[in-house]
Amino acid sequence: MNRWMNKLSYHYQKMRHLYPDDKLIVLFDIDGTIVDTRYMVLHALNSYDQIHGTSYFDDLAISHVTMHEDRAEDLLDSLDLPASVREQVGLWYRSTRWSSKAILESHRPYHGVMEVMRWFQLQPNTYVGLNTGRNETVRQDTLRSLNFLGEEYKLELSDHLLFMNQGLPDRSVPQVKVDGVNYFRNLGYRVFAMIDNEPENLQAISEMPTADDVMLLHADTIFLSQRQRLPQASISGNVFDLTELAVQSSLPRHVQFVWHGINEEDNLYEFMRSNVQWGEMDVRIHPKTDQLVLHHDDFDESPCSVQDLLLFDDVLGKLKNAGKSLKIDLKENAAIDRVIFAIESTGIEHSRLWFNGKIETLHPEGFRRLSLAFPTATLQCPINFMVPLMNTLPERAKTLLDEFASWGINRLSIKWDTPTMQRVLDLLDDWGFGLNIYNVPDLQAFLRAVLMQPRSVTSDFNFPKWRNYGRGSGGEVRHLSYSRKPALSLAS
Ligand SMILES: [Mg+2]
Repeated sequence: MNRWMNKLSYHYQKMRHLYPDDKLIVLFDIDGTIVDTRYMVLHALNSYDQIHGTSYFDDLAISHVTMHEDRAEDLLDSLDLPASVREQVGLWYRSTRWSSKAILESHRPYHGVMEVMRWFQLQPNTYVGLNTGRNETVRQDTLRSLNFLGEEYKLELSDHLLFMNQGLPDRSVPQVKVDGVNYFRNLGYRVFAMIDNEPENLQAISEMPTADDVMLLHADTIFLSQRQRLPQASISGNVFDLTELAVQSSLPRHVQFVWHGINEEDNLYEFMRSNVQWGEMDVRIHPKTDQLVLHHDDFDESPCSVQDLLLFDDVLGKLKNAGKSLKIDLKENAAIDRVIFAIESTGIEHSRLWFNGKIETLHPEGFRRLSLAFPTATLQCPINFMVPLMNTLPERAKTLLDEFASWGINRLSIKWDTPTMQRVLDLLDDWGFGLNIYNVPDLQAFLRAVLMQPRSVTSDFNFPKWRNYGRGSGGEVRHLSYSRKPALSLAS
Protein backbone atom coordinates (compact mmCIF):
# COMPACT_ATOMS: atom_id res chain seq x y z
CA MET A 1 0.00 0.00 0.00
CA ASN A 2 1.34 3.43 -0.85
CA ARG A 3 -0.18 5.28 2.11
CA TRP A 4 -1.75 8.05 0.04
CA MET A 5 -3.61 9.43 3.08
CA ASN A 6 -0.33 9.61 4.94
CA LYS A 7 1.22 11.61 2.12
CA LEU A 8 -1.82 13.86 2.05
CA SER A 9 -1.37 14.43 5.76
CA TYR A 10 2.27 15.48 5.34
CA HIS A 11 1.42 17.71 2.42
CA TYR A 12 -1.36 19.36 4.43
CA GLN A 13 0.99 20.01 7.36
CA LYS A 14 3.57 21.45 5.01
CA MET A 15 1.02 23.80 3.45
CA ARG A 16 -0.24 24.80 6.89
CA HIS A 17 3.31 25.66 7.84
CA LEU A 18 3.99 27.62 4.64
CA TYR A 19 0.69 29.50 4.72
CA PRO A 20 -0.31 29.77 8.38
CA ASP A 21 -3.04 32.34 7.80
CA ASP A 22 -4.56 31.07 4.56
CA LYS A 23 -7.88 29.34 4.23
CA LEU A 24 -6.80 25.89 3.05
CA ILE A 25 -9.20 23.76 1.06
CA VAL A 26 -9.15 20.15 -0.15
CA LEU A 27 -11.40 19.39 -3.13
CA PHE A 28 -13.27 16.13 -3.61
CA ASP A 29 -14.86 14.81 -6.74
CA ILE A 30 -18.18 13.08 -5.92
CA ASP A 31 -18.97 10.13 -8.18
CA GLY A 32 -16.46 7.34 -7.91
CA THR A 33 -14.57 9.25 -5.20
CA ILE A 34 -17.04 9.90 -2.37
CA VAL A 35 -20.01 7.98 -3.70
CA ASP A 36 -19.67 4.34 -4.71
CA THR A 37 -21.51 4.58 -8.03
CA ARG A 38 -22.02 0.83 -8.30
CA TYR A 39 -24.89 1.19 -5.86
CA MET A 40 -26.50 3.79 -8.11
CA VAL A 41 -26.45 1.31 -11.00
CA LEU A 42 -27.79 -1.52 -8.88
CA HIS A 43 -30.49 0.70 -7.42
CA ALA A 44 -31.66 1.85 -10.87
CA LEU A 45 -31.96 -1.70 -12.17
CA ASN A 46 -33.71 -3.01 -9.08
CA SER A 47 -36.18 -0.15 -9.17
CA TYR A 48 -36.92 -1.02 -12.81
CA ASP A 49 -37.99 -4.48 -11.66
CA GLN A 50 -39.98 -3.06 -8.79
CA ILE A 51 -41.95 -0.60 -10.93
CA HIS A 52 -42.55 -3.04 -13.77
CA GLY A 53 -43.27 -6.11 -11.66
CA THR A 54 -40.40 -7.99 -13.28
CA SER A 55 -37.46 -9.91 -11.85
CA TYR A 56 -34.65 -9.53 -14.37
CA PHE A 57 -32.18 -8.26 -11.81
CA ASP A 58 -33.05 -10.38 -8.77
CA ASP A 59 -29.73 -12.18 -8.86
CA LEU A 60 -27.63 -9.12 -9.57
CA ALA A 61 -25.18 -8.41 -6.73
CA ILE A 62 -22.95 -5.42 -6.15
CA SER A 63 -19.94 -7.53 -7.14
CA HIS A 64 -21.38 -7.92 -10.65
CA VAL A 65 -21.26 -4.17 -11.18
CA THR A 66 -17.72 -3.61 -12.33
CA MET A 67 -18.15 -0.89 -14.91
CA HIS A 68 -18.40 2.88 -14.82
CA GLU A 69 -21.90 4.27 -14.23
CA ASP A 70 -21.94 5.78 -17.72
CA ARG A 71 -21.39 2.31 -19.18
CA ALA A 72 -24.34 0.48 -17.64
CA GLU A 73 -25.14 -0.78 -21.16
CA ASP A 74 -22.12 -3.08 -20.93
CA LEU A 75 -23.70 -4.73 -17.95
CA LEU A 76 -27.06 -5.06 -19.70
CA ASP A 77 -25.35 -6.59 -22.73
CA SER A 78 -23.77 -9.22 -20.55
CA LEU A 79 -27.09 -10.25 -19.02
CA ASP A 80 -28.71 -11.98 -21.96
CA LEU A 81 -31.97 -9.99 -21.86
CA PRO A 82 -34.50 -9.97 -24.74
CA ALA A 83 -33.66 -7.09 -27.09
CA SER A 84 -36.84 -5.14 -26.35
CA VAL A 85 -36.30 -5.39 -22.59
CA ARG A 86 -32.66 -4.45 -23.00
CA GLU A 87 -33.71 -1.27 -24.79
CA GLN A 88 -36.43 -0.38 -22.27
CA VAL A 89 -34.12 -0.85 -19.33
CA GLY A 90 -31.47 1.29 -21.00
CA LEU A 91 -33.98 4.09 -21.46
CA TRP A 92 -35.17 3.72 -17.90
CA TYR A 93 -31.64 3.87 -16.59
CA ARG A 94 -30.77 7.02 -18.51
CA SER A 95 -33.99 8.82 -17.58
CA THR A 96 -34.11 8.00 -13.87
CA ARG A 97 -30.51 7.80 -12.66
CA TRP A 98 -30.35 11.50 -11.77
CA SER A 99 -33.88 11.78 -10.34
CA SER A 100 -34.23 13.18 -6.80
CA LYS A 101 -35.47 9.83 -5.61
CA ALA A 102 -32.52 7.93 -7.06
CA ILE A 103 -29.99 10.40 -5.69
CA LEU A 104 -31.48 10.22 -2.21
CA GLU A 105 -31.95 6.47 -2.11
CA SER A 106 -28.99 5.07 -3.95
CA HIS A 107 -25.98 6.93 -2.60
CA ARG A 108 -23.44 5.03 -0.55
CA PRO A 109 -20.15 6.58 0.42
CA TYR A 110 -16.89 4.66 0.24
CA HIS A 111 -15.75 3.41 3.60
CA GLY A 112 -13.88 6.08 5.56
CA VAL A 113 -14.33 8.98 3.16
CA MET A 114 -16.86 10.84 5.32
CA GLU A 115 -14.49 10.63 8.29
CA VAL A 116 -11.63 11.97 6.19
CA MET A 117 -13.70 14.98 5.09
CA ARG A 118 -14.88 15.60 8.64
CA TRP A 119 -11.32 15.43 9.90
CA PHE A 120 -10.26 18.22 7.58
CA GLN A 121 -13.25 20.31 8.60
CA LEU A 122 -12.16 20.02 12.23
CA GLN A 123 -8.70 21.42 11.47
CA PRO A 124 -8.33 25.16 12.03
CA ASN A 125 -9.02 27.36 9.01
CA THR A 126 -9.39 24.31 6.78
CA TYR A 127 -12.28 23.54 4.44
CA VAL A 128 -13.66 20.79 2.25
CA GLY A 129 -14.97 21.66 -1.21
CA LEU A 130 -16.75 19.56 -3.80
CA ASN A 131 -15.59 19.80 -7.40
CA THR A 132 -17.92 17.69 -9.51
CA GLY A 133 -18.85 17.07 -13.11
CA ARG A 134 -22.47 16.67 -12.04
CA ASN A 135 -24.83 19.17 -13.57
CA GLU A 136 -26.14 22.24 -11.71
CA THR A 137 -29.67 20.85 -12.08
CA VAL A 138 -29.00 18.32 -9.31
CA ARG A 139 -27.40 20.80 -6.88
CA GLN A 140 -30.04 20.61 -4.16
CA ASP A 141 -30.42 16.83 -4.40
CA THR A 142 -26.65 16.42 -4.25
CA LEU A 143 -26.34 18.55 -1.12
CA ARG A 144 -29.32 16.89 0.53
CA SER A 145 -28.09 13.35 -0.06
CA LEU A 146 -24.47 13.99 0.95
CA ASN A 147 -25.48 15.89 4.06
CA PHE A 148 -27.89 13.13 4.96
CA LEU A 149 -25.08 10.58 4.68
CA GLY A 150 -22.74 12.90 6.57
CA GLU A 151 -25.09 13.41 9.51
CA GLU A 152 -23.70 10.62 11.64
CA TYR A 153 -20.21 12.06 11.17
CA LYS A 154 -21.36 15.62 11.85
CA LEU A 155 -20.16 16.42 8.34
CA GLU A 156 -21.82 19.43 6.74
CA LEU A 157 -21.20 20.37 3.12
CA SER A 158 -22.29 23.83 2.16
CA ASP A 159 -23.80 25.20 -1.01
CA HIS A 160 -21.07 27.71 -1.77
CA LEU A 161 -18.34 25.08 -1.45
CA LEU A 162 -19.94 22.94 -4.16
CA PHE A 163 -18.77 23.63 -7.72
CA MET A 164 -20.79 21.93 -10.46
CA ASN A 165 -20.95 21.58 -14.20
CA GLN A 166 -22.77 24.58 -15.67
CA GLY A 167 -23.46 22.54 -18.79
CA LEU A 168 -21.71 25.01 -21.11
CA PRO A 169 -21.27 23.47 -24.56
CA ASP A 170 -17.58 24.32 -24.82
CA ARG A 171 -16.52 22.80 -21.50
CA SER A 172 -15.57 19.15 -21.09
CA VAL A 173 -15.58 17.60 -17.61
CA PRO A 174 -11.79 18.01 -17.19
CA GLN A 175 -12.20 21.69 -18.07
CA VAL A 176 -15.02 21.96 -15.53
CA LYS A 177 -12.62 20.63 -12.88
CA VAL A 178 -10.09 23.32 -13.79
CA ASP A 179 -12.87 25.91 -13.57
CA GLY A 180 -13.66 24.48 -10.14
CA VAL A 181 -10.12 25.01 -8.88
CA ASN A 182 -10.26 28.60 -10.14
CA TYR A 183 -13.68 29.11 -8.56
CA PHE A 184 -12.36 28.21 -5.09
CA ARG A 185 -9.25 30.31 -5.60
CA ASN A 186 -11.37 33.31 -6.54
CA LEU A 187 -13.29 32.85 -3.30
CA GLY A 188 -10.00 33.27 -1.45
CA TYR A 189 -9.19 29.63 -0.66
CA ARG A 190 -5.81 28.02 -1.21
CA VAL A 191 -6.46 24.65 -2.86
CA PHE A 192 -3.93 22.17 -1.45
CA ALA A 193 -5.30 18.89 -2.83
CA MET A 194 -7.80 17.45 -5.27
CA ILE A 195 -9.08 13.87 -5.07
CA ASP A 196 -10.69 12.41 -8.20
CA ASN A 197 -11.17 8.99 -9.73
CA GLU A 198 -10.73 10.15 -13.36
CA PRO A 199 -7.11 10.36 -14.50
CA GLU A 200 -7.97 12.93 -17.18
CA ASN A 201 -9.41 15.33 -14.59
CA LEU A 202 -6.20 15.21 -12.59
CA GLN A 203 -4.20 15.61 -15.75
CA ALA A 204 -6.12 18.78 -16.65
CA ILE A 205 -5.48 20.27 -13.21
CA SER A 206 -1.80 19.35 -13.33
CA GLU A 207 -1.50 21.40 -16.52
CA MET A 208 -2.77 24.56 -14.86
CA PRO A 209 0.07 27.07 -14.63
CA THR A 210 -0.24 27.42 -10.85
CA ALA A 211 -0.92 23.85 -9.81
CA ASP A 212 2.33 23.23 -7.93
CA ASP A 213 0.77 23.42 -4.48
CA VAL A 214 -2.10 21.13 -5.38
CA MET A 215 -1.48 17.51 -4.44
CA LEU A 216 -3.31 15.32 -6.94
CA LEU A 217 -4.78 12.15 -5.49
CA HIS A 218 -6.26 9.45 -7.64
CA ALA A 219 -9.12 7.50 -6.09
CA ASP A 220 -8.39 4.16 -7.69
CA THR A 221 -11.97 2.89 -7.95
CA ILE A 222 -13.76 2.64 -11.31
CA PHE A 223 -12.90 5.15 -13.99
CA LEU A 224 -13.33 5.75 -17.71
CA SER A 225 -10.27 7.63 -18.85
CA GLN A 226 -6.87 6.07 -19.46
CA ARG A 227 -4.67 5.41 -16.48
CA GLN A 228 -1.72 6.66 -18.53
CA ARG A 229 -3.23 10.12 -18.29
CA LEU A 230 -2.46 10.26 -14.59
CA PRO A 231 0.02 13.05 -14.00
CA GLN A 232 3.39 11.86 -12.82
CA ALA A 233 3.17 13.57 -9.46
CA SER A 234 -0.23 12.10 -8.62
CA ILE A 235 -0.68 9.47 -5.93
CA SER A 236 -3.19 6.64 -6.15
CA GLY A 237 -4.98 4.90 -3.35
CA ASN A 238 -8.31 3.32 -2.61
CA VAL A 239 -8.68 3.18 1.16
CA PHE A 240 -9.67 6.29 3.06
CA ASP A 241 -7.85 5.37 6.24
CA LEU A 242 -8.20 8.02 8.91
CA THR A 243 -5.40 6.45 10.94
CA GLU A 244 -3.00 7.24 8.07
CA LEU A 245 -4.22 10.81 7.88
CA ALA A 246 -4.63 11.93 11.44
CA VAL A 247 -1.54 12.87 13.41
CA GLN A 248 -1.61 13.30 17.14
CA SER A 249 -0.91 17.01 16.97
CA SER A 250 -4.07 17.53 14.91
CA LEU A 251 -6.41 16.21 17.59
CA PRO A 252 -9.01 18.80 18.57
CA ARG A 253 -7.96 20.57 21.72
CA HIS A 254 -11.39 20.77 23.30
CA VAL A 255 -11.72 16.98 23.65
CA GLN A 256 -10.05 15.52 26.76
CA PHE A 257 -8.17 12.24 26.43
CA VAL A 258 -7.88 9.65 29.14
CA TRP A 259 -5.40 6.76 29.22
CA HIS A 260 -7.30 3.78 30.50
CA GLY A 261 -6.25 1.40 33.27
CA ILE A 262 -2.91 2.64 34.58
CA ASN A 263 -3.12 -0.02 37.28
CA GLU A 264 0.08 -1.81 36.30
CA GLU A 265 3.60 -0.54 36.31
CA ASP A 266 4.31 -0.96 32.59
CA ASN A 267 1.07 0.68 31.52
CA LEU A 268 1.60 3.50 34.00
CA TYR A 269 5.08 3.94 32.54
CA GLU A 270 3.72 4.20 29.00
CA PHE A 271 1.14 6.73 30.16
CA MET A 272 3.78 8.83 31.90
CA ARG A 273 5.94 9.04 28.78
CA SER A 274 2.95 9.94 26.57
CA ASN A 275 1.50 13.40 26.15
CA VAL A 276 -1.95 12.23 27.29
CA GLN A 277 -3.03 14.37 30.22
CA TRP A 278 -5.44 12.11 32.09
CA GLY A 279 -4.74 8.66 33.48
CA GLU A 280 -7.48 6.40 34.76
CA MET A 281 -6.98 3.99 37.65
CA ASP A 282 -9.28 1.59 39.49
CA VAL A 283 -9.18 2.07 43.23
CA ARG A 284 -10.07 -0.55 45.83
CA ILE A 285 -9.21 -1.36 49.42
CA HIS A 286 -7.03 -4.43 49.78
CA PRO A 287 -8.93 -6.92 51.97
CA LYS A 288 -5.80 -8.13 53.80
CA THR A 289 -3.81 -4.97 54.39
CA ASP A 290 -6.57 -2.34 54.22
CA GLN A 291 -4.43 -0.20 51.88
CA LEU A 292 -5.78 1.71 48.86
CA VAL A 293 -4.55 -0.20 45.81
CA LEU A 294 -5.05 -0.15 42.04
CA HIS A 295 -6.91 -3.22 40.85
CA HIS A 296 -9.66 -3.60 38.28
CA ASP A 297 -11.36 -6.80 39.35
CA ASP A 298 -13.05 -7.87 42.52
CA PHE A 299 -10.59 -9.45 44.98
CA ASP A 300 -13.01 -12.34 45.58
CA GLU A 301 -12.75 -13.29 41.92
CA SER A 302 -9.18 -12.31 41.30
CA PRO A 303 -7.15 -12.42 44.48
CA CYS A 304 -3.87 -10.59 44.34
CA SER A 305 -1.20 -9.99 46.90
CA VAL A 306 -0.52 -6.39 47.79
CA GLN A 307 3.14 -6.72 46.76
CA ASP A 308 1.99 -7.15 43.17
CA LEU A 309 -0.16 -4.03 43.15
CA LEU A 310 0.50 -0.33 42.86
CA LEU A 311 -0.49 1.71 45.88
CA PHE A 312 -2.86 4.61 45.27
CA ASP A 313 -0.80 7.01 47.39
CA ASP A 314 2.36 6.32 45.34
CA VAL A 315 0.68 6.83 41.99
CA LEU A 316 -1.12 9.93 43.23
CA GLY A 317 2.21 11.48 44.22
CA LYS A 318 3.89 10.57 40.92
CA LEU A 319 1.09 11.97 38.79
CA LYS A 320 0.90 15.12 40.85
CA ASN A 321 4.63 15.75 40.46
CA ALA A 322 4.54 15.04 36.74
CA GLY A 323 1.72 17.52 36.15
CA LYS A 324 -0.64 14.78 35.05
CA SER A 325 -4.32 14.59 35.96
CA LEU A 326 -6.12 11.71 37.64
CA LYS A 327 -9.28 9.91 36.73
CA ILE A 328 -10.15 7.77 39.73
CA ASP A 329 -12.56 4.92 39.19
CA LEU A 330 -13.95 4.15 42.62
CA LYS A 331 -14.80 0.48 42.76
CA GLU A 332 -15.97 0.46 46.37
CA ASN A 333 -18.10 2.82 48.40
CA ALA A 334 -15.86 2.36 51.41
CA ALA A 335 -12.94 3.83 49.45
CA ILE A 336 -14.58 7.25 49.03
CA ASP A 337 -13.57 8.85 52.32
CA ARG A 338 -10.14 7.26 52.23
CA VAL A 339 -9.49 8.65 48.77
CA ILE A 340 -10.74 12.12 49.75
CA PHE A 341 -8.37 12.10 52.70
CA ALA A 342 -5.38 10.91 50.66
CA ILE A 343 -5.92 13.57 48.01
CA GLU A 344 -6.42 16.41 50.46
CA SER A 345 -3.09 15.68 52.06
CA THR A 346 -1.27 16.09 48.70
CA GLY A 347 -2.68 19.53 47.88
CA ILE A 348 -3.20 18.69 44.17
CA GLU A 349 -5.44 21.18 42.30
CA HIS A 350 -9.01 19.92 42.29
CA SER A 351 -9.46 20.67 38.59
CA ARG A 352 -6.97 17.85 37.92
CA LEU A 353 -9.32 15.34 39.54
CA TRP A 354 -12.03 13.24 37.98
CA PHE A 355 -14.05 10.61 39.78
CA ASN A 356 -16.01 7.84 38.17
CA GLY A 357 -18.32 5.35 39.84
CA LYS A 358 -21.46 3.40 39.27
CA ILE A 359 -24.55 4.79 40.93
CA GLU A 360 -25.20 1.48 42.67
CA THR A 361 -21.66 1.57 44.08
CA LEU A 362 -21.27 5.18 45.17
CA HIS A 363 -24.94 6.01 45.83
CA PRO A 364 -26.21 9.61 45.68
CA GLU A 365 -24.59 10.23 49.03
CA GLY A 366 -21.13 9.24 47.78
CA PHE A 367 -21.34 11.62 44.82
CA ARG A 368 -22.49 14.41 47.16
CA ARG A 369 -19.50 13.86 49.44
CA LEU A 370 -17.08 13.97 46.51
CA SER A 371 -18.75 17.06 45.10
CA LEU A 372 -18.58 18.81 48.45
CA ALA A 373 -14.90 17.96 48.87
CA PHE A 374 -13.90 18.83 45.27
CA PRO A 375 -16.44 21.23 43.75
CA THR A 376 -14.32 21.88 40.63
CA ALA A 377 -13.55 18.22 39.93
CA THR A 378 -15.23 16.12 37.25
CA LEU A 379 -17.78 13.69 38.65
CA GLN A 380 -18.92 10.94 36.34
CA CYS A 381 -21.15 7.89 36.21
CA PRO A 382 -21.73 5.42 33.38
CA ILE A 383 -25.23 5.61 31.90
CA ASN A 384 -25.40 2.71 29.45
CA PHE A 385 -28.52 1.50 31.22
CA MET A 386 -30.25 4.81 30.38
CA VAL A 387 -29.76 4.64 26.61
CA PRO A 388 -32.98 2.73 25.80
CA LEU A 389 -34.92 5.24 27.90
CA MET A 390 -33.21 8.18 26.19
CA ASN A 391 -34.24 6.75 22.83
CA THR A 392 -37.86 6.12 23.75
CA LEU A 393 -38.83 8.57 26.51
CA PRO A 394 -36.19 11.30 26.39
CA GLU A 395 -38.04 13.64 28.74
CA ARG A 396 -38.18 10.98 31.45
CA ALA A 397 -34.50 10.33 30.94
CA LYS A 398 -33.75 14.02 31.29
CA THR A 399 -35.61 14.19 34.60
CA LEU A 400 -33.41 11.40 35.94
CA LEU A 401 -30.21 12.94 34.63
CA ASP A 402 -31.16 16.25 36.21
CA GLU A 403 -31.43 14.39 39.48
CA PHE A 404 -27.93 12.93 38.97
CA ALA A 405 -26.72 16.46 38.34
CA SER A 406 -28.20 17.56 41.66
CA TRP A 407 -25.86 15.07 43.39
CA GLY A 408 -22.90 16.76 41.72
CA ILE A 409 -22.52 14.51 38.66
CA ASN A 410 -21.28 16.62 35.74
CA ARG A 411 -20.07 14.02 33.24
CA LEU A 412 -21.88 11.00 31.82
CA SER A 413 -20.15 8.05 30.26
CA ILE A 414 -21.18 5.52 27.63
CA LYS A 415 -19.50 2.63 25.84
CA TRP A 416 -18.09 3.07 22.37
CA ASP A 417 -20.16 0.35 20.75
CA THR A 418 -23.50 1.82 21.89
CA PRO A 419 -25.98 1.94 19.00
CA THR A 420 -27.51 5.40 18.38
CA MET A 421 -24.48 6.99 20.01
CA GLN A 422 -24.65 10.12 17.88
CA ARG A 423 -28.27 10.64 18.90
CA VAL A 424 -27.41 10.18 22.57
CA LEU A 425 -24.60 12.67 22.20
CA ASP A 426 -26.84 15.24 20.53
CA LEU A 427 -29.46 14.88 23.27
CA LEU A 428 -26.88 15.30 26.04
CA ASP A 429 -25.44 18.30 24.22
CA ASP A 430 -28.88 19.89 24.03
CA TRP A 431 -29.40 19.25 27.73
CA GLY A 432 -26.02 20.68 28.65
CA PHE A 433 -24.33 17.45 29.84
CA GLY A 434 -20.78 16.50 28.93
CA LEU A 435 -20.26 12.99 27.58
CA ASN A 436 -17.33 10.65 27.94
CA ILE A 437 -16.93 7.74 25.51
CA TYR A 438 -15.06 4.72 26.89
CA ASN A 439 -14.12 1.20 25.82
CA VAL A 440 -12.63 2.55 22.61
CA PRO A 441 -10.61 -0.39 21.29
CA ASP A 442 -8.16 0.94 18.70
CA LEU A 443 -6.91 3.97 16.84
CA GLN A 444 -9.58 3.86 14.17
CA ALA A 445 -12.37 3.76 16.73
CA PHE A 446 -10.61 6.42 18.77
CA LEU A 447 -10.48 8.81 15.81
CA ARG A 448 -14.10 8.13 14.96
CA ALA A 449 -15.02 8.81 18.60
CA VAL A 450 -13.09 12.09 18.47
CA LEU A 451 -14.98 13.12 15.33
CA MET A 452 -18.20 12.81 17.30
CA GLN A 453 -16.89 15.60 19.53
CA PRO A 454 -17.76 14.30 22.96
CA ARG A 455 -16.28 16.11 25.97
CA SER A 456 -13.80 13.28 26.52
CA VAL A 457 -12.61 9.91 25.21
CA THR A 458 -11.16 7.17 27.41
CA SER A 459 -9.10 4.61 25.56
CA ASP A 460 -6.34 2.06 25.99
CA PHE A 461 -4.10 4.15 23.73
CA ASN A 462 -2.85 0.95 22.22
CA PHE A 463 -1.80 2.88 19.12
CA PRO A 464 1.57 1.63 17.87
CA LYS A 465 1.24 4.02 14.90
CA TRP A 466 1.51 6.88 17.37
CA ARG A 467 4.08 5.10 19.53
CA ASN A 468 1.54 4.80 22.31
CA TYR A 469 1.65 1.34 23.84
CA GLY A 470 -1.17 1.22 26.36
CA ARG A 471 -2.65 -2.09 27.31
CA GLY A 472 -5.81 -1.53 29.30
CA SER A 473 -6.49 -3.40 32.48
CA GLY A 474 -9.90 -4.96 32.56
CA GLY A 475 -11.13 -8.38 31.57
CA GLU A 476 -13.48 -6.85 29.00
CA VAL A 477 -10.79 -4.97 27.18
CA ARG A 478 -9.71 -6.47 23.90
CA HIS A 479 -5.92 -6.27 23.90
CA LEU A 480 -4.46 -5.82 20.47
CA SER A 481 -1.42 -7.84 19.62
CA TYR A 482 1.74 -5.93 18.91
CA SER A 483 5.34 -6.42 19.74
CA ARG A 484 6.17 -4.34 22.70
CA LYS A 485 9.53 -3.49 24.05
CA PRO A 486 10.24 -4.90 27.50
CA ALA A 487 8.67 -2.84 30.28
CA LEU A 488 11.07 -0.44 31.88
CA SER A 489 11.07 -0.02 35.58
CA LEU A 490 9.21 2.94 36.99
CA ALA A 491 11.71 3.26 39.78
CA SER A 492 13.62 6.49 39.20
MG1 LIG B 1 -15.72 10.91 -10.51
